[in-house]
Amino acid sequence: MCRATLLRFLMILLSASVGWGAEELDKVRMQLKWQHQFQFAGYYAAIEKGFYEEEGLEVELLTPEPDTDPMRVVVEGGAEFGVSTSEIVQLVAEGEEVVALGVIYQHSPLVLVSLMETGLESLHDLAGKTIMMEPNSADLVAMFLAEGVDPDSITMVDHSFGVRELLEGKVAAQSAYITDEPFNLRVLGYEPIVMTPRSSGIDFYGDGLFTTREQVERHPERVEGFRRASLRGWEYAFANPEEIIRVIREKYSQRKSVEALRYEAHGTKRLARPDLIEVGYMNPGRWRYIAEVFLDLGLTDRLVEPTEFLYRLEEPIPWGKLLAAFAVVLFIAAVSTIVAVLLYRSRIRLIQSNQRLSEAKEDLRKSEAFYRNVYENAPLAFLLWGPDLRIKRWNRGAEKIFGWSGEEVEGRRFTDLIIPEDERQTVDQINRDIEKQGVRPAENWNVRKDGSRIWCQWFNQAKFDGRGAMIECHSFAIDATAYRKQNDALASEKEAAELLSRQKSNFLAAVSHEIRNPVGAILNFAALIREDAPNAEIRDLADVIVSSGDSLVRILNDLIDHEKLNTGRLEINPVPVDPGELVDRLVRMHRPMAEKQGLGLSADIAPDFPEVVLDPERFEQVLYNLLSNGIKFTGKGSVTVSLRYESDDQLPVVLCVKDTGFGIEEGDLKGIFSFYDRGKSNKRKAVSGAGVGLSICRNLVELMKGRIDVESTPGEGSVFTVRLPAGPGDAGSAAP
Ligand code: ADP
Repeated sequence: MCRATLLRFLMILLSASVGWGAEELDKVRMQLKWQHQFQFAGYYAAIEKGFYEEEGLEVELLTPEPDTDPMRVVVEGGAEFGVSTSEIVQLVAEGEEVVALGVIYQHSPLVLVSLMETGLESLHDLAGKTIMMEPNSADLVAMFLAEGVDPDSITMVDHSFGVRELLEGKVAAQSAYITDEPFNLRVLGYEPIVMTPRSSGIDFYGDGLFTTREQVERHPERVEGFRRASLRGWEYAFANPEEIIRVIREKYSQRKSVEALRYEAHGTKRLARPDLIEVGYMNPGRWRYIAEVFLDLGLTDRLVEPTEFLYRLEEPIPWGKLLAAFAVVLFIAAVSTIVAVLLYRSRIRLIQSNQRLSEAKEDLRKSEAFYRNVYENAPLAFLLWGPDLRIKRWNRGAEKIFGWSGEEVEGRRFTDLIIPEDERQTVDQINRDIEKQGVRPAENWNVRKDGSRIWCQWFNQAKFDGRGAMIECHSFAIDATAYRKQNDALASEKEAAELLSRQKSNFLAAVSHEIRNPVGAILNFAALIREDAPNAEIRDLADVIVSSGDSLVRILNDLIDHEKLNTGRLEINPVPVDPGELVDRLVRMHRPMAEKQGLGLSADIAPDFPEVVLDPERFEQVLYNLLSNGIKFTGKGSVTVSLRYESDDQLPVVLCVKDTGFGIEEGDLKGIFSFYDRGKSNKRKAVSGAGVGLSICRNLVELMKGRIDVESTPGEGSVFTVRLPAGPGDAGSAAP
């Protein structure tokens, strides 16, 4: 295989492989209405720039044969697309299913051209003459009709696509493009006469782009793509006329010179007005006007509505695109709404937080003012001082209390100003405590500016930095001099009272001792007198002396016991005893007294009463008092002493003294065990004692960890019950 053949083979392979991925282009034909020239510049541009290819189209441009109607070629299927004129209205009126895709020339370029030498003055002069008319020249026909010239009065022959017939005088006039033939004639040295439909009030659309309805319905994307690429091509051509002129001459036709093409390009642009109107734009109102002119001039037999043939108006609704667009719009709207809501909310939040901030500032200002007021006017001294003891702040209270003004003290050490010499050490210790503990209340003597001393109560609180070093200390002080003086006075009063009380006890002890001795002597003598009494009268007198002396001794003993109890000096000495024996002995001792009053006195002692541990002397003292009272306050009947052991009780030793005496009024029961209570309603003052016996009984019983109670009914009698523990317990000294 030679090298050239191999190369060709490789090229074929390469092109085949490139072709695999590419989609096949949709081949369509575009029927032009004239020979190649700038009139179709947009289509050349769309091919040249690949606009059709981008839409998947391969477009073939067809030029018309002299005897063919280019618009009919499209209607009959010879091409998919074609260049239209306003005559499309006529096609629609005739029932052709065609669709105008867009208009390139906003005004028709069609004119009727003649030569000066024909002497033509008006359209009317053409009657009976022959003119050369290109197909689809409805606006020229309309011009005749509008001018009242019957087109049938003129012989119309097919156009030769040239001017030769006119120059040779074979035709009196011919249809022409304003953008084209006048230039050619002038180039050839002729002066053309140009008759425009616009001067007769006919202003149709010029060249446009059209297709059949079948194409629109069956190949909507092809139609859309073709339209889009064509209009893009036109925009490009209008923007780059020189380039397209070069393309026309190089690839399509050299029939026209570059100048002629430039002239045409210039005229074409003037008719299309791409600077003012979007290329391809169609106004339904304008089409309606054109349709009305067609109907008025009898060119159509009915009024054609623009909706019948305009592409945009009958275009199927692109639901997919609409939905996509709608979704996009919705998305944008949603995003915008969210953003707006967020912005709004953040703005509201901002406003609210600003509001809160200004409220907080206002609150802060108020509370600052409040605390400043409190701080300045409080009846407290407020000092702020640093670790060097130098004063940083000093309020009005401090000025009042210490007599120094703020200005005088600021920056000075408070220890040099308000601490007297003899308190320095105390205050140094307080300061050390403050640095260690942070909080330290204190009381000490201070000195005022005038040298007077005041007693101050202090509350000190320190502030520390992160490492625990004191930054500053807040100290509050009140002048408590008056309070201190009062306290001092009270303390001395208390001391005096205690001294007095001690003196009284001592006096009582001394007196009782001094009294007891002579009374003892008196009693002994009285006893001797009674024994030796010569008669009953003397014996009775001696009895009175003995019993009175006994009472006196007992009262003295009671008073001393009471005093001892009150001063905590009375002690009990528990020992194992048989309380039954104690009871028995005391009952026997009191029997003479009871009998003397005509009273029965009995003892009821539980037989199996165990031995217990208690102070027999104090037990007897209690029983003695109760028994004496029972006999003393019983007019008739009896007094009974009972002793029982209730082993289930915490206080199992139960001693009862029951009498059938006068009883105790309810009002007196409550205070019966109080010192010197002899019963307010006691009618028998004559038999009353000193009012200390029951008080001593209670104190003694409580000292023995027991309890004493009384029940009484006036006129019936009383029962005094004493309950005591069986063991010594923790019996000790009486409480003060
Ligand atoms: P005193 O007997 O020395 O007056 P007490 O403290 O023993 O003092 O008694 C106080 C008062 O209680 C008596 O004055 C008396 O009014 C009343 N009282 C005490 N015991 C009895 C009793 N058994 N019956 C009636 N009244 C009594």
